[in-house]
Amino acid sequence: MTNKLVCCAHGHEFSAKEQLWQCSCGSLLNLQTDLKEMEIREDDPTLWRYRDLLPLDSDETILTLGEGMTPLLQRKIGDYPVYLKMEFMSPTGSFKDRGAAILMAKVRELGIERVVEDSSGNAGAAIAAYAAAAGIECEIYLPEATSEGKIKQIKAYGAKVVKIPGDRDATSRAIWEAAQTTYYASHVWNPYFFAGTKTMAYELWEQLGFAAPDTLIIPVGNGTMLLGAYYGFLDLLEMGQIDTLPRIIAVQSAQCTPIYAEFHNLATTPVRPTVAEGISVGQPARKAEIIAAIHGTGGQILAVEDEQVLQGVAELSKMGIYVEPTSGTVVAALYQALECGLIHPTEKVILPLTGSGLKKG
Ligand SMILES: *Cc1c(COP(=O)(O)O)cnc(C)c1O
Ligand SMILES: [Zn+2]
Repeated sequence: MTNKLVCCAHGHEFSAKEQLWQCSCGSLLNLQTDLKEMEIREDDPTLWRYRDLLPLDSDETILTLGEGMTPLLQRKIGDYPVYLKMEFMSPTGSFKDRGAAILMAKVRELGIERVVEDSSGNAGAAIAAYAAAAGIECEIYLPEATSEGKIKQIKAYGAKVVKIPGDRDATSRAIWEAAQTTYYASHVWNPYFFAGTKTMAYELWEQLGFAAPDTLIIPVGNGTMLLGAYYGFLDLLEMGQIDTLPRIIAVQSAQCTPIYAEFHNLATTPVRPTVAEGISVGQPARKAEIIAAIHGTGGQILAVEDEQVLQGVAELSKMGIYVEPTSGTVVAALYQALECGLIHPTEKVILPLTGSGLKKG
């Protein structure tokens, strides 16, 4: 497969053999891959069954912790039938394992021995776990307020934890400095992370009998799941496997609405604390790309209150499904979307459940 890294701002191009996570002009990079015929490796019960579409030169640096192929359950929320994509049943407890698995395999392939990453928790845990599996040294920068359960998990994998006082954006500034000298295994900047999150789209397509759903409701902070879903379904469209893109309804916390505000041409409001800590991102680097992706599917973005989010979590718990508060946003958004007529009764709607409730510690 011939891949190249392409600058999002000016179209500068680089070989995928270069150790780059950012364009030389400072802009974001995306990965451009040649899509070929895909043959699903049906005997592989992980996301590596889509190996033909994954941007690695050889199989030798691949390592798996059993990520991907999360179950797809049919349930009712209220009276409405939905599909629950059980992403929290991933090796480290969140869908971030998809991105981390591909990114760390690529890091090994590039011969890199040390990485840094910053994360409010789940992305840090995922990178730390795959770094451990790959024998790569890893430092994770975290906001001081990160829940103790998540920090414990990251430390257990052997990563060095660097706690930064202040909010999520203070951590972003601190990592920036570290990333000047060490390879940045960023779930936001590094294009290989998104090559991994695309696999959820491939799986949904396969699990629905080789068909696209009508609508996905996706929580969005930095957009790693949203953009992955968008680009993944775009791949399937390009390969002629589906006829139309599913619509993406994004959801943010009403306490932190940078993407919601820009989409709806509203003034930005300061970030306030929210129970949905996984999407508490004040300045998403890929904001413009996320908004373009939502528009590209004829989608929409909603904002939900903490109270509704917690009700969503409680409703899932009563069904035997224990997720972290951030994952409750999709239930709150489903109710809101039904109320305002955004979803029609016959639509096939996917609710990805992003993170496990077991990390609160
Ligand atoms: C990371 C994360 C999200 C949101 O993903 P983004 O890439 O920031 O949009 C949602 N839920 C959980 C549990 C997460 O860890
Ligand atoms: Zn550039």
